[in-house]
Amino acid sequence: MKITFLGTGTSQGIPVIGSDHPVCLSSNPKDKRLRVSVLVEWDDFAYVVDCGPDFRQQMLRVNCNRIDGVVFTHEHADHTAGLDDIRPFYFRQGDIPFYAHKRVLGELQKRFDYIFTTKVKYPGVPSVIQHEIKNEPFQLGNLQVIPINGMHHKLQVFGFRFGDFAYLTDMKTVEDEEIEKLKGVKILVVNALREKEHLSHFNITEAIAFIDKVQPETAYLTHISHYLGFHDEVQQMLPKNVFLAYDNLQLEL
Ligand SMILES: [Zn+2]
Ligand SMILES: [Zn+2]
Repeated sequence: MKITFLGTGTSQGIPVIGSDHPVCLSSNPKDKRLRVSVLVEWDDFAYVVDCGPDFRQQMLRVNCNRIDGVVFTHEHADHTAGLDDIRPFYFRQGDIPFYAHKRVLGELQKRFDYIFTTKVKYPGVPSVIQHEIKNEPFQLGNLQVIPINGMHHKLQVFGFRFGDFAYLTDMKTVEDEEIEKLKGVKILVVNALREKEHLSHFNITEAIAFIDKVQPETAYLTHISHYLGFHDEVQQMLPKNVFLAYDNLQLEL
């Protein structure tokens, strides 16, 4: 399995438009973060988790020209706003499979009504095949994927376990029975916004406490705000099996 971090930034990305915060001004490529998304590939399969506003740029920079579908964690704009840019995939491959909670599918239908309409579409509008995810394992290619249910303040969010790899973002609280589903995972990705507490995201302390509960071999932090600090400085303060993810980082499993 190959995992590519397409984006590792929080909702505004880093740099933030117009910001003169030192992290936003950093010249280190690891301090430049597009909105969160990962590409997960195994055998002949390729799935993208989330499809935020940077989707087009992300697909171009990793040279991805075929996907088997898009899996959504939740409906926030930083995870869904790039949906129209599935068009090149649709033109080459036909209808693109989507996997999401019923509520998220409903939100996408509202925001992108021209894609989901059953009436005659404007030429060039993409088509999708909708698959509802419930909190039970579902099939992607030849793999059973296990959803991990969590809360993002008061909003339900799904994380996903793909075999020995699990990806969780935009989590604030996760029930113990959901954490059980992560036991034995080798690589865990989890959101860590910043040092200060936040209403709807793990801060770095909560993320590390969560990693401690799951006990993966290695863990990577994502959905990072510029307030977390410079990549290289934060990395030095982390436990030895915990790493800050950065854009274009690839992991093999
Ligand atoms: Zn987000
Ligand atoms: Zn969110």
